[in-house]
Amino acid sequence: MFQTSVIEISKSALKQNISFIKQFLYDGVKFSSVVKGNAYGHGIEIFVPLAEDVGVKHFSVFSADEALRVKNICKASTQLMIMGYIDNEELKWAIENEIEFYVFDIDRLQAALLAAKKINKKAKVHVELETGMNRTGFESLTLKNAVKIIKQNKEFISFEGVCTHYAGAESIANYVRVQSQIKKFHRQKKSIEAEGIKPKLYHTACSAASITYPKTQMDMVRIGILQYGYWPTRETFIQYIHKNSEPNEPLQRVLSWKSKVMNVKEIKTGEFIGYGTTYLAQSDKKIATVPVGYSHGFSRSLSNVGRVLIHGQRVSVIGIVNMSLMTIDVTGIDNVQKGDEVVMIGRQDDLEISVASFSELSSQVNYETLTRLPMNIPRKVVD
Ligand SMILES: *Cc1c(COP(=O)(O)O)cnc(C)c1O
Repeated sequence: MFQTSVIEISKSALKQNISFIKQFLYDGVKFSSVVKGNAYGHGIEIFVPLAEDVGVKHFSVFSADEALRVKNICKASTQLMIMGYIDNEELKWAIENEIEFYVFDIDRLQAALLAAKKINKKAKVHVELETGMNRTGFESLTLKNAVKIIKQNKEFISFEGVCTHYAGAESIANYVRVQSQIKKFHRQKKSIEAEGIKPKLYHTACSAASITYPKTQMDMVRIGILQYGYWPTRETFIQYIHKNSEPNEPLQRVLSWKSKVMNVKEIKTGEFIGYGTTYLAQSDKKIATVPVGYSHGFSRSLSNVGRVLIHGQRVSVIGIVNMSLMTIDVTGIDNVQKGDEVVMIGRQDDLEISVASFSELSSQVNYETLTRLPMNIPRKVVD
């Protein structure tokens, strides 16, 4: 292969995760698969068709560029929703392609109405409510105006949804804040319905909220991290296990990241390894060089602390992680050769390097580690 590493995407793991998620959703709750951030690093172009194969019919993205990438490869019947950024100029494109989008200010709503009139096609709109995240979303006053515009323009605005997002459903420390958001959402929902209109769907829950606050599932959930095989936080996992007295981990990691040994070398006691003086060989060492560095998403903060798998054993990164390569300690492992498989994330025999341990060592959260995996590493579907 031309590239120095490969990311493998497991279809059976995805299938297992989706069926696990469907089993804890209430009957009739729609499932939207969140594929922002290049499908959490898995690769939109690989992930979306796989998800469609296992029954996913609705995807959520952050921005118009991501929507375009999904649109280019998804089935004609697949629905698509933009939760964040789209320029007013692109609204016409979204409406033509029946792409749903959030509105959280009057400006975008009016621009959408204008575009819809121009091409004589309905804009599919989700009204985002401010409930306490304090990011985007209509406040009570502006909401009144928005509702009025939607009510008066039914022939050009399809009222698809009313939604919000919780500010930290993955930690019990935020319990009071989330409860107050839920209450506020219901109050605003009533005030909308009091105007005599109703959206097709109410949706508020991400992965953590769907598990920890099941009532927030409403008509649709927007699930990201869980479908890829990760718990939003350890706390959410413990909550789930506690509630369901289920001893086994129901999720399977969809992604693995692998490379190969590029070179093997013997180093004498007293020599420094790599740039500078961060690693002094205290005994004779055998090292292997792996062609993966921080430019490939293997954080420099893993210098001297990262772990990888080789020959079914867990070994240490030694010295500084370079831009394009790293060195690992293979002292005592027989027959390490050029071309041998090295696992940065995933399993080898009985051992696993999880994204969580990788993240902890490099002070990232799972979400960040995954989305930092560069787009140009080739993705390959396995089983
Ligand atoms: C990212 C995101 C989600 C999905 O969050 P997960 O924790 O990955 O399930 C849901 N809703 C919104 C608005 C988001 O931005």
